[in-house]
Amino acid sequence: MAPGSAPHATPVEAVLAAVDGHAAGLTEADATRRLQRYGANTLTEPPRRGPVLRFLAHFHNVLIYVLLGSAAITAGLGHFVDTGVILAVVIANAVIGFVQEGRAEQAMSAIRRMLAPQSSVLRDGERRSVDSAALVPGDIVLLEAGDRVPADLRLTEAAGLRIDEAILTGESVPVDKGTRPVAADAPVGDRAGMAFSGTLVAAGAGRGVVVATGGATEIGRISGMLSRVETLTTPLVGQMNAFARWLTMLILLIAAVLLVYGYFVGHLPFAELFMAVVGLSVAAIPEGLPAVLTITLAVGVQAMARRNAIVRRLPAIETLGSVSVICTDKTGTLTRNEMMVATLAGASHTYSVAGSGYAPEGRICLADADIDPAEHTRLIEFARAAALCNDAAVRRHEDGWRVEGDPMEGALKALAGKIMRQSNGDPFAGWRRSDAIPFDARHRYMAVLHHDHEGHAFIHVKGAPESVLAMCSAERAADGEDAPLDPDRWRRRIDDIAARGQRVLALAVRPVPQEHVVLNTADLDGELVLIGLVGLIDPPRPEAVDAVAECHGAGIRVKMITGDHAGTAAAIARQIGLRNPDAVLTGADIEGMNDAELAAAVADTDVFARTSPEHKLRLVTAFQSKGLTVAMTGDGVNDAPALKRADAGIAMGRKGSEAAKEASDLVLADDNFASIVAAVREGRTVYDNIKKVISWTLPTSAGESMTIVVALFLGMALPITAVQILWVNLITATTLGIALAFEPTERNTMKRPPRSRDAPLLSGELVWHIILVSVLFLAAVFGIYAYAIDSGHAPDLARTMALNTLVVLEIFHLFFIRNIYGTSLTWKAAKGTPVVWACVATVVLAQFAVTYVPPLQQVFGTRAVPLFDGMLIVAVGAVFFAVIEFEKQLRLAVRRMR
Ligand code: ATP
Repeated sequence: MAPGSAPHATPVEAVLAAVDGHAAGLTEADATRRLQRYGANTLTEPPRRGPVLRFLAHFHNVLIYVLLGSAAITAGLGHFVDTGVILAVVIANAVIGFVQEGRAEQAMSAIRRMLAPQSSVLRDGERRSVDSAALVPGDIVLLEAGDRVPADLRLTEAAGLRIDEAILTGESVPVDKGTRPVAADAPVGDRAGMAFSGTLVAAGAGRGVVVATGGATEIGRISGMLSRVETLTTPLVGQMNAFARWLTMLILLIAAVLLVYGYFVGHLPFAELFMAVVGLSVAAIPEGLPAVLTITLAVGVQAMARRNAIVRRLPAIETLGSVSVICTDKTGTLTRNEMMVATLAGASHTYSVAGSGYAPEGRICLADADIDPAEHTRLIEFARAAALCNDAAVRRHEDGWRVEGDPMEGALKALAGKIMRQSNGDPFAGWRRSDAIPFDARHRYMAVLHHDHEGHAFIHVKGAPESVLAMCSAERAADGEDAPLDPDRWRRRIDDIAARGQRVLALAVRPVPQEHVVLNTADLDGELVLIGLVGLIDPPRPEAVDAVAECHGAGIRVKMITGDHAGTAAAIARQIGLRNPDAVLTGADIEGMNDAELAAAVADTDVFARTSPEHKLRLVTAFQSKGLTVAMTGDGVNDAPALKRADAGIAMGRKGSEAAKEASDLVLADDNFASIVAAVREGRTVYDNIKKVISWTLPTSAGESMTIVVALFLGMALPITAVQILWVNLITATTLGIALAFEPTERNTMKRPPRSRDAPLLSGELVWHIILVSVLFLAAVFGIYAYAIDSGHAPDLARTMALNTLVVLEIFHLFFIRNIYGTSLTWKAAKGTPVVWACVATVVLAQFAVTYVPPLQQVFGTRAVPLFDGMLIVAVGAVFFAVIEFEKQLRLAVRRMR
């Protein structure tokens, strides 16, 4: 026993005393003091490599080795200018890689911050939500299914509490937890009175006092949960990087063959030939591609985070862009989850309840006339069941009344206040809860056992009306007596309230002997007396209506999958604008179907009601069997399998459990359906931008390298030198390519049907584009070079003109690529974006410098281009643009006709 504990203290009291805690929790002031003493409740992160090592790591790359080798050889040959340029290029490459890595890390750590877990604790005697990192020994933590235990807790209460301790013990079956002490030397796996940090609550509810935080916890001691350092990549980008590596090897092979061929067969001087081959390698290898793709992803992750969609697993960015079905919850996602009781239905009367938000003040009317609730004793019973069968609290803040806990329960607390005319405090605070059966989406009710001061004991139950009616044998009649239950009449009333879009709950009660202190399901079966029904309004989110319409325009079906009543679901579906709102499939219907029947039935059904989490899993599978890409939302612990199975699992950031978040690919910071649609839009944008980066980079590389290969094979002088190629490729190409990573969403992005998930990125269309553009590049560069030589210009000037042509073509190509799905001939397209113009301006300035500044002319072997020839080069660029734009318009027109 800890020093200072009372001699006859219960084990729990002893623990409380040991940590100097109190059953009502710590005060905020005490918590702050303890936080200073014990430190934050976080695990130390693994040490990161220093910036120098991270910078050096960017030199570990085949291309860099090749370039460094080339630098050594050129130095050996006495071409020191070339050596200097190559080394400058190597360093520039490492700097760009280092900067993009920094950007990617920034994106990831911003996301980690947004996902910081919260815990429910008792502070100053009230239930509060605090950052788990701020927990201190002595805090009382409340646990419920789906929570991740935030610190090591000695349990003081446990109702059906089962915890998955696989992370600590490797045991995958959740273990039962209780409050009884165990032997002091019991192994971790047998300490049933403890909940350990990092483990997951699989079922039930409980509370416990924090006994260890941060590094002092069991998990902290074995340091098992250190956050993995996630790299910013997706399957598509991975494939592209693999493709780039493969291309590098191929090009090096071709370069070697060319070197041997040129030297032994073509008898070219080695130094010149070697430089040409180095130029070819650098031109053909898309060295900037991995860096630009990573930046594209980082920009996408940040854009989604700004729209309240936090990407947990990066491949989701791609998947989201191809989503063809979104399965969404109703409560809180399509609706606001701001509940208010509007209707009370007793045996003979139906009352309407007025008020605003969660304020426990408002009129109660019967047949449009205000009544005094005190004169309607039936209403007191409503209030008692509503207030006692409840874990939430409503509290007045400066900006109005707010709920701590489940909003529906908050609405019931407000109702109790309205009936009892007691807006301060809890009208039934004197009743002591001795046991509870927590709400579970599978049985859909919650039951509590209470004792009052006068020795009475009651069980109160609230839940889905079907579940509660099934447990009732009687109903409270208008005269206060009990009468046999008339289920058919109640069902009609349930349908009536649900048809108005209200969520319906039933309340029931059963008096029990005072000695009764443990609650079992057997106590409920057929023993309850129905008090009546409660109808709650939860208005649809206005932005969800627009978002659903946007989905329909984008060829995405929206399916509502709710645990709510079919009538309520249909009414809300109608208000939200879902298709076929009245063709509702219920959980019971789903159970009656085999997988094939279900797959056939789901295609045209958009509303699924009274479903449980297992149905969600079957529905995802059914949609997937139809070849659809499914996004599925979830919040509860039991939704995890469906979230994992879905192509994009989406968890709710606010009301979602930690278990659901961990199973998901995406977390919605605001639980809002409109954010899912924003994420889909961003997903499509990121995919388009990846495609744009690739569609821009590959033809540019191919065009440049073909220039060298053709010149070598035809035995012509190179129209552009190796050093110039290095310049174009590493300086201009990367700068311009990055502009595409920041491209905004194209106007018609959400008007296109979703792309097929396995549509190859290197499609026939892209291959054709690569061929077309590289041939045009080739023609333009050789054309200008030939023109310059014909006009009597020196070879150096001719090469400078060819070099500038290449860069001008790249810029025009960039403007073309910005609109791959629509015309580039609009004011908006020409206007570009600040990022595009910044990149273009940088490249143009650099190009002017290389062409006109004497020291740079020395390095790059360039000459000042006369004005007329400069204008000619720009004109060639414009013609190139006109040709590819015409070809695109033709292709789009043919596609539209099909
Ligand atoms: P959605 O999937 O749209 O979020 P939901 O939140 O209505 O649906 P569940 O949480 O599974 O789905 O709830 C199903 C039903 O269980 C509700 O319609 C309600 O009747 C009942 N219910 C929900 N929460 C509670 C609770 N805390 N106590 C008692 N009954 C509840």
